[in-house]
Amino acid sequence: MTIAGKYEVVIGLEVHAQLQTASKLFSGDSASFGASPNTHISPITMGHPGVLPRTNRKAIEYAVKMGLACHCEIEEDNYFARKNYFYPDLPKGYQVTQHTTPVCKGGYVTINTPTGKKNIQLNRIHLEEDAGKSIHDLDENYTCIDLNRAGVPLIEIVTEPVLQSSEEAWQYVTVLRKLVKWIGVCDGNMEEGSLRCDANISIRLQGEKKLGTRVEVKNLNSIRNVKKAIDYEVERMIAIVESGGTIIQQTRSFDAGNDTTFALRDKEEANDYRYFADPDLPPFHLTKDFIKTMQVSLPSLPEQLATQYQQEFGLSEYDAAQLCDEKATADYFESVTHFCKNYKAVANWMLGPIREYLNGNNFSFDQLSLHPEVLAELIKLVEEGQLNFSVASSRILPSLINGKRSPLQVAEEMDLLQVSDSTELEIWVNEAIRSMPDKVAEYKKGKKNLIGLFVGEVKKISKGKADPRSVKTLLEQKLDENTII
Ligand code: ADP
Ligand code: MG
Repeated sequence: MTIAGKYEVVIGLEVHAQLQTASKLFSGDSASFGASPNTHISPITMGHPGVLPRTNRKAIEYAVKMGLACHCEIEEDNYFARKNYFYPDLPKGYQVTQHTTPVCKGGYVTINTPTGKKNIQLNRIHLEEDAGKSIHDLDENYTCIDLNRAGVPLIEIVTEPVLQSSEEAWQYVTVLRKLVKWIGVCDGNMEEGSLRCDANISIRLQGEKKLGTRVEVKNLNSIRNVKKAIDYEVERMIAIVESGGTIIQQTRSFDAGNDTTFALRDKEEANDYRYFADPDLPPFHLTKDFIKTMQVSLPSLPEQLATQYQQEFGLSEYDAAQLCDEKATADYFESVTHFCKNYKAVANWMLGPIREYLNGNNFSFDQLSLHPEVLAELIKLVEEGQLNFSVASSRILPSLINGKRSPLQVAEEMDLLQVSDSTELEIWVNEAIRSMPDKVAEYKKGKKNLIGLFVGEVKKISKGKADPRSVKTLLEQKLDENTII
């Protein structure tokens, strides 16, 4: 058995997702990213004496939506607690969080693994406020503090220790990121810190029931770094155990410069945060009606939709998954299907030439300026043989995007409509046959696959305007029936 095969990896992830609300969790301060430092800081954010925070209803709605999307049980009676500790970027001296009553309990997120689908069990999703930001590398002598982020609403999504490899962790964060964006509760932007992940990692001998001692790698800000940090830690831990050492419980940080982790602190047994219910914030009760309203407001989730596309529209698993990669893509697909029932063609157009155009411009489908009805018309012209696909996608499509004319108008103006009128076709076909007498002779001797060559010649002569299906029929007729010229 390999050394790595001797051990089993156990991972639990804590993901912080910044909720996409306009204002902070307990004040009207803007929650937007990127403003000048310390401009979104009212006395409430600063925790001045005598201020009265109020809970942002939208943040609660978003947390509940996320819980429902993850099949959690929603807690009806909730309160906020103060988690007391001192840190320069925590102006109040405590963080408001949910201590014993997370708004969402249990639940799961489904991921794909090489051996099939796997439900990753969640422990909880709770609401809390973010802290400010300490900036250590701006000034030589001082740490700078930006409190714009203090009080911004977060949900923390905590898994049970059930992930078994860095690949599974990668999959899980990928699915979670897609989900928060899909239901519109978080923009999923990891570079801006809207989604951050702490990875708890331990190893144990295969078959061992007890969990090993874990380390926690903090603040991973990309999916790739989540995987790299886990890979590094697993290797480090195995090396320690193999050389007879003991793993100590630590909080560690990832160094993206060389893909390693380093110790921040040994984990104190249990911090005494002196939690107590925040006396300034009344408990909040969620009625069954409210929860039902949230449930109804959820869009169909990506997996559900992908299955529906396969069953109702006859799409392949691959196409369906691609169309459900982002909500904007699925929405666009559905709007085109209102005008065009050739679902496979719609998928082909969207996942082929249109996606190529969007990728080239770094756009997503909600930034595509092509009315779904216009795309449907274009597809119809190809179906009817008036345009061939390659001309339609390479020449007509670019002038339709951002344009105001219909596909037919553009095709007429550019003189690209295919000709299936038989007199004109016959002239081209005759010309092609006449230009290749030796090939005609070979064809007649039985080399029937030369037909492609003749079709190609007609295409050239007609500058792509001859409808290849009619051309082929006509060519066969003429060559086989000896009615040339
Ligand atoms: P804390 O709040 O101190 O970070 P929790 O008990 O809430 O601790 O656990 C945090 C995360 O760590 C959870 O995702 C949990 O599944 C995971 N976890 C706990 N113990 C282990 C372990 N031995 N190995 C891997 N992950 C673990
Ligand atoms: Mg933790």
